[in-house]
Amino acid sequence: MSWDREVATAVDAVRLASRVCTAVQKRLVAGSALAKGDKSPVTVADFGAQAIVSDLLARALPHIPLIGEEDAAALRDPANAALSAQVVDAVRSVLPDMDAASILDAIDRGMASGGPKGAFWTLDPIDGTKGFLRQEQYAVALALIVDGVVQIGVLGCPNLPSRAGGDGAIFVATRGGGAFELPMDGPGRLTCRTNAGSDPASHRFCESVESGHTSQSESAIVAERLGITAEPIRMDSQAKYATVARGDASIYLRLPTRKDYVERIWDHAAGAIVITEAGGRVTDTRGADLDFSCGRGLERNSGVVATNGPLHDRVVDAVRQVLGA
Ligand code: AMP
Ligand code: MG
Repeated sequence: MSWDREVATAVDAVRLASRVCTAVQKRLVAGSALAKGDKSPVTVADFGAQAIVSDLLARALPHIPLIGEEDAAALRDPANAALSAQVVDAVRSVLPDMDAASILDAIDRGMASGGPKGAFWTLDPIDGTKGFLRQEQYAVALALIVDGVVQIGVLGCPNLPSRAGGDGAIFVATRGGGAFELPMDGPGRLTCRTNAGSDPASHRFCESVESGHTSQSESAIVAERLGITAEPIRMDSQAKYATVARGDASIYLRLPTRKDYVERIWDHAAGAIVITEAGGRVTDTRGADLDFSCGRGLERNSGVVATNGPLHDRVVDAVRQVLGA
């Protein structure tokens, strides 16, 4: 089946949301908001991006429900009227025909529950919020899941250098159709292929900046066992999946920091299909496929291991040995 309409709509939506996030991030005065621990800029961008993506999807494809990370409950609280007004301003900068009520409703459309049957979108409006606040990497991540299988993934990475020049790239993959990198602004597309080669020693791996999101101490042991000598590439968000998909690194390790943490589907669906369609492989730390049919969480999985493909089995073996030890 052809997904042309779904892909075109998803790319337009991610591009528009990325533009608003870029504008909000630029307005963050370096240092000041962070020093006060003020999360409101990321909150405005989070809600704004979810409203924009949700609205564009609903206009073009009203029959497909959405699972989004955010809901508008906090914005409906009169105590947060100022924050709500900022979200409305941000959305209306690109969708001037939306009013406050329709913006809150668009955000709340993201409350679908998912599961094994039917089609639904899943959205992380700003994946990597900590990177967003540090003026570093973050992603607008959108995927279409049908009967538990990811069919489309779109990753907007506004701060990742484009191979075509300039800042910002959008990664798009469709199941069986390959993975591509588009410049954030302007025409053209480049094919994404993972790098070749099965000797881990010559490869680099990526992991989260945040040590609370992945066990950096255990990944260092895995890397040592594989003979990898290069320093890890530490990066927030699903930009890590894009980095492996276009061959800038060969491995992405996400090793659980606690037994009870369940990964969220919106943190992995788009990235996973971008890597697999670029020739790579994605499993959990035990070597099992990621199972997107359990609702909002990857209940049957533990952590994530993504690779260029040829390295996969050796990397999973090393991970199992280290985590099992
Ligand atoms: P990253 O930017 O790759 O570090 O991942 C950011 C994502 O980590 C956020 O969207 C959260 O959903 C997710 N997250 C939060 N807590 C944890 C945790 N304890 N382990 C793994 N991921 C987490
Ligand atoms: Mg996220």
